[in-house]
Parts: sequence; structure tokens; C-alpha cells
Amino acid sequence: MSYQPPLEQFEFCQQQPELAYFDSAASCQVPQSVLTKLLDYYQHQHANVHRASYARGRAATQCYEQARRDCAQAIGATAAQVSFQASTTSALNGLAQQLPVAWQAGDEILLSSAEHHANILPWQRLAAQHDLRLRFISLDRASGELGEWQHLLGPRTKVVSLTLASNITGTRFALEPILAAAQQQGAWTIVDAAQAVAHEQLAVTQLGADAVVFSAHKAYGVAGCAVLWLSQALLAASEPFTVGGGIVTGVTKSHANLVTGIHKFEAGTPNVGAAVAAASGLAWLQQQQQLGLHDYLQALRQQLWQQLQQRAWLTLLPTGKQHTPVIAFYSDEFQAHDIATWLDQHQIAVRAGHHCAQILLQDWQLPAVVRVSLAAYNTPAQIERLVAALDAGWQLFAD
Ligand code: PMP
Repeated sequence: MSYQPPLEQFEFCQQQPELAYFDSAASCQVPQSVLTKLLDYYQHQHANVHRASYARGRAATQCYEQARRDCAQAIGATAAQVSFQASTTSALNGLAQQLPVAWQAGDEILLSSAEHHANILPWQRLAAQHDLRLRFISLDRASGELGEWQHLLGPRTKVVSLTLASNITGTRFALEPILAAAQQQGAWTIVDAAQAVAHEQLAVTQLGADAVVFSAHKAYGVAGCAVLWLSQALLAASEPFTVGGGIVTGVTKSHANLVTGIHKFEAGTPNVGAAVAAASGLAWLQQQQQLGLHDYLQALRQQLWQQLQQRAWLTLLPTGKQHTPVIAFYSDEFQAHDIATWLDQHQIAVRAGHHCAQILLQDWQLPAVVRVSLAAYNTPAQIERLVAALDAGWQLFAD
């Protein structure tokens, strides 16, 4: 492997060298350069944006708009179609409530069984409001791929909202044909890229979606900022998700005239620091990808997969043909939470549970699984430690 994990760029690797952090699918650790940018913004430019006539306010606005341009460039988009949201969750809630659809009872929304709760609950709420029907593409238990979907798509389908990669199995789904067929039907198409963004060069305009969203804390940025790309058609037709200051051209006692561009999706004071960190995190990620991060993580994942597969007491969830460096498993002998607690005692951080994707575990009749997710600061030695700790647990506790 030629890629060298940049451990010196992560403070926690110096402070806690014994910690193997395998929960990056939940939140990545943040590189020093991103933290420096964030601090620099607060120390040298911070003020409220867009409304100030003084120099520091202009500097803050400049930072914020530069972050927008940088994030847009990182995902192959133009800044005029990229807005900053608080999180993937809030963006999906906003989209669900404000999609320009004249809902009729019985209209359908197509999701998959692999969706994160963030891409289910907003649609359940909308369905309850308008008497809509949610339909789910199932996930094949053997392959980890999306199952038959053609019969689920029809003239009643008004929205198709799908995750690009599963946050449990790591499968990177081939969504493009589904999105193309959905658009042909006239449905709005939404892609939740929260789990894909750290592992591929997103080209949002080529997915065939009307909206693509991801949280920056999944891509070496900080929490409090999500990047939401909208097609020109959706941007123009959608109402703002929330209303308030910063998105109006004029307000009377009875009425407000709203701006029409991308800023209409950013009412109120934005999280400028997190947006600056988002752009910095994406730039850092891009640099690491050029150094070979992707292949490095796939090799690490392969190392882990092979080792785990040799343990008959563990069952691995299928990961599909293309996958992010995420592996989930369970044991008939031990509870997932017990495994995670045992590993924590060995300074190994993994996550156990339903991972906010309960529908998938229900479909597959699994109560909980352990998830190991990899990022730039993980090493082959950490994989060996993880496997050794699992073996030690097995030897100690197995009947
Ligand atoms: N979608 C997916 C696929 C996710 O993995 C997550 C985060 N676990 C979310 C949505 C929600 O992201 P956030 O918590 O940042 O809103």
C-alpha cells in the first residue's frame, strides 16, 4: 500500500494512539487543517453574513460564499444550486414538506428498505398529512443489492427518495436506472448521499436526481452543516423550507416578497463556521483521494472481511457489488451491544444497534448488528487488534 494514513493530522491519534475509531460512518474525526480553518474563521472573520456594511461582515460573507463555491466545485455543481442546511435530516424534512406536488390521496412515494430513518420519517409524516402510500424497494438478503423496483414505479409515484449507499451494509447502490425511470414518470428524485460522499467523487448532475444531500460531518467536516444540491427545476418550483430573515426583498404587515435564488433555502443566520469547515473537509478528502485513500480503504476493508469470514460464529451482512468500507455483522452467540462493549474495553470504537435503519433489520429479522466503518486514520494494525479482541472474547465467553 502506498497510501500513508495521515495520523499526524488528527489530534486524537496523538492523544489516544491506542484508540481504534471505527465509527466514521456516524461521524468522521476532523483533520487539523479543517479545525484550523474553523478557528481561523471565528478568530478573524466571524460576523453575521449578508447584511453588514462593515468590513468584517463582508469578510464573513465572503468566507460563506467561498465555502458554497468550493463545496459546489467538489461535487461537480455550480454554486447557484447549492445551499447549506443544518443536516441531512433537516434537509430531507424540508424537501418532504415543500416539494411542489399537488398531493392527491393515494399518491405514492418510493423509498428503499435500506433508508436511514432520516429518509423515512419525513415521508411518513407527509403520508399521514395527505393520505399517501409509501412503497419500499426491498434489499436482497443474499446479495445486499436493491431488489425488483420496476413494479413499484407508476403514474402515482410522485417522489423517489433513495440512499446512494447503505449505512449498515455499505452497499453502494446503482441508483441511476431507477432515478432515470422515475424522472420519466415525472417523479421528483432525491438522493441521500450521506454515506457515499466520503467514498466517491460525487458528480451530482450526473446522477439523474433533483436533489442530492449529505452532511459535512460524514466527510471530515463538522456537524451543523449539510450540503444540498437542487436541480434548476426543483430550485425554482420549491418553496423555502423555513421562512424568516435573510430571504426577503421586502416585508409588509401582511405579506413578504421572497428572493428567488438558492438563498431562499437559507432563512436565518447560517452556520458559517460549519460551512467553511465543510468546504475544507471536502478539499482535504479530495487531496487524500488523490493520494490513494479509496484503494487503501478498500484493501483495509478486504483484510477485515477475510478475517471476519473465517470466524464461523460471526455472520457478515452482504455488501453488494460496489461498497463503501463498511462491514456489519452479528453473532448468534453474543448480543451486538455486548460485542461493542467488549471492544470498547479494548479501546476499539464500533457501533452496535439498528443504526437508524430499523426497517432493514426488521426485513431481515435481525435485532441488532455491529458495524465497523473505516476512514483515513484506520490502519491494518487496528484491524488485527479488532480481530484479536473478537477472538479473545470468543475464547473467554463462548460455551
Ligand atoms: N442518511 C444516512 C444514510 C445517514 O447515514 C445519516 C447519518 N447517520 C443520515 C441520513 C442523517 O444525517 P444527519 O444525522 O447528519 O442528519
